[in-house]
Amino acid sequence: MKVFEKAPAKINLMLDVLHKREDGYHEVEMIMTMVDLADRIEMQELPRDTIIISSQAGYIPLDEKNLAFQAARLIKERYDVKQGVYIHLDKKIPVAAGLAGGSSDAAATLRGLNRLWQLGIPTPELQRLGAELGSDVPFCVTGGTAIARGRGEKLEPIEAPPQCWVILAKPPINVSTADIYGKLRAGHIQRHPSVAKVLEAIRLKRFDLLCDGLGNVLEEVTLDLYPEVRQLKECMLRLGAEGVLMSGSGPTVFGLVSKEAKVARIYNGLRGFCKDVYAVRLLT
Ligand code: ATP
Repeated sequence: MKVFEKAPAKINLMLDVLHKREDGYHEVEMIMTMVDLADRIEMQELPRDTIIISSQAGYIPLDEKNLAFQAARLIKERYDVKQGVYIHLDKKIPVAAGLAGGSSDAAATLRGLNRLWQLGIPTPELQRLGAELGSDVPFCVTGGTAIARGRGEKLEPIEAPPQCWVILAKPPINVSTADIYGKLRAGHIQRHPSVAKVLEAIRLKRFDLLCDGLGNVLEEVTLDLYPEVRQLKECMLRLGAEGVLMSGSGPTVFGLVSKEAKVARIYNGLRGFCKDVYAVRLLT
């Protein structure tokens, strides 16, 4: 038996850090949504008790460091599954980009193996398992649009934002999420974005207010460390994107565009700046 799952990329419409907790994690407040740029995960049952990962992407780990491997191992252990699985990751989401590619692969693996092995695990339990693998995994289990609190695992689903084009551009640098959070001085954040502002924009279906409400406190760290990310933001705005923000800890920058007529010009303008550019829709 074989199953397939789509593992879409996420973007943060806003990301705030409230404080650093005693357990070392940061208390966050984020609004996350998904875009139509996705990895495709194929899972095939194996008679032997083993987990095998393959991928056409040469630059991700294929052993127990891979989040899809960890998801499969977790579900096998918890549900005492004796069969093995061969997992192929057809990667489309750029790696270490701030788009939660690994987390989404892990979430898709949990969903897929639940079906493949007919385990009947309810979604909230899949999300609890996901939280053991990473802070973004519970959101990726369901996708949609949600407010995430705690370290990202406390989710409140909300209405989808107004549909638009999303131009994603990743400069050719790798940014470590742990490094960026480590360098953030949570008590000295200059400007906190507002959940209420983004929620109001979504409720009123006002694209202009949504663009105004975008905000990510991690920009304060990443933009100083990597000036090319700041330049990319400026470039996207100059080309005509209506709202521009860095996703997660970066380095990917996304631009929201309401009119299709502008998309090709922005896309082509950015291609002169970096290789990884995508023009996609929100996954609503
Ligand atoms: P986040 O926004 O959740 O921090 P990210 O988009 O910045 O994630 P990922 O693409 O998830 O970053 O990759 C982060 C690291 O995880 C990489 O260094 C990569 O080697 C490792 N990794 C493990 N499993 C995967 C996977 N299935 N796909 C991509 N990267 C993976």
